[in-house]
Parts: sequence; C-alpha cells; structure tokens
Amino acid sequence: MGITENILNINRSLKEGVRLIAVSKTKTKEEIMEAYRCGQRAFGENKVQELVDKYNALPKDIEWHFIGHLQGNKVRPLVPFVHLVHSIDSFKLLKSVNKEGKRINRVIPCLLQFHIAREETKFGFDPDEAVGMLSSPDYAALDFIRLHGVMGMATFTPDEIQIRNEFRMLKQFFDGLKRRFFPDKDFFREISMGMSGDYQPAMEEGSTMIRVGSLIFGERH
Ligand SMILES: *Cc1c(COP(=O)(O)O)cnc(C)c1O
Repeated sequence: MGITENILNINRSLKEGVRLIAVSKTKTKEEIMEAYRCGQRAFGENKVQELVDKYNALPKDIEWHFIGHLQGNKVRPLVPFVHLVHSIDSFKLLKSVNKEGKRINRVIPCLLQFHIAREETKFGFDPDEAVGMLSSPDYAALDFIRLHGVMGMATFTPDEIQIRNEFRMLKQFFDGLKRRFFPDKDFFREISMGMSGDYQPAMEEGSTMIRVGSLIFGERH
C-alpha cells in the first residue's frame, strides 16, 4: 500500500477528538508531499536540523511537531516556527525554550513528556518532579512557554495489558495536573500517546494526538 491509502485508512479509524501527527523522520520531501496532497498538515520530526531543512523546503501551512529528545543548545532554530514541542523532559529544557521564545517574543507551545515505560532509557518526568516544577516560583516566571498537555511512550512490548496500563497512567497524570494546575485553562487539553503499533489502545485510553510513522511511510532504515 502507498502513503495515500495508508493515511486515508488511519483517518478512517481515528476516534473523534484525535489528531494524526505523521512522523516523517528520515523520510524525503517527496514522501512528505504525497501525504500533504491527501490533506495531511501535521508532521513530526525528532532531529532539529532535519526539521529545519524540511520546514525551509516545504509548504508553509505545514504544522511541524518536534517529538525527539531536545538539547537546550539546539532550541534556537526551532522556536520561530515550531507548532508544538512534545518532548519537554526536564525543567532545564523548559527554561531554555522559554529563553529562546523570549528572545524572539513568541510563546512556544509545549507538552511535558512523562516517563511511563518500563525501559530505563526513555526520557521524561515522573509525577513528583512535574508537580515540584509546576509549584515553583521559577516556573511561574516563564512567560514564553505554554503547556498544552502531556506526552508519553509506552514500553515496546507485545503485552497489550502492559501498554494499556501505561497509557491509563499517563491519562491519570494528565487529569491530576489539569485539576491541580490548569483547571480553567482550555489550552491544557492534549495527551500525545500512541504510535504505529499501539495507537488503537492509545485512542481508547484517551489520546488526543497519535504520532504515527512507519504505518504511513513504511519501515525506516
Ligand atoms: C519515531 C517516533 C514515533 C513514530 O513511530 P512509528 O512506530 O514509526 O509509528 C512516534 N513517537 C516518537 C517520539 C518517535 O520517535
């Protein structure tokens, strides 16, 4: 199957209120344009330089989502145009994004990445850390970032019960933060969870954004 059919198929299975982010890392501009021509406008990348190159070359009504681990010293080229940074995994990084947003007077939309997987290697906050940050005066002083919600990646496993439990946990973190820190903030509403192998259970557990790559573009090499 081709990119066009894959996108149409996924769109047909989207639950109401869920957006598809097409993860185009390692894929060419031509492949991205095929998805664009069937109406796809939100794309996700995990490397700064690759994202900037694609932004420069491709139509300007594309929404670029940054989904990879980000270093503070790489933030600058992203902030003028990035639609949403999904992968804020430390207070330090959030401060770097704020500083770069302030330089150009743009408020940068961000998600807090939570560590929900069993694997040791995945980046992200745990709930206590997030609560500590959100309660701190240093956080209150950040005027050039806006938190729109949370993001997480489940363990890479065929065990669907495990995956569902992790997604459910992320939904609970979201609900807890919403109640405590953002009760009247409509913009705090996103739960970015679900990839090619697990987007169906993610949607059932409350995802609002699925990040799907290989199911659209084929395997990456
Ligand atoms: C690569 C990547 C995806 C997409 O993975 P697929 O399994 O190809 O759908 C989603 N989220 C993140 C953070 C990624 O790095």
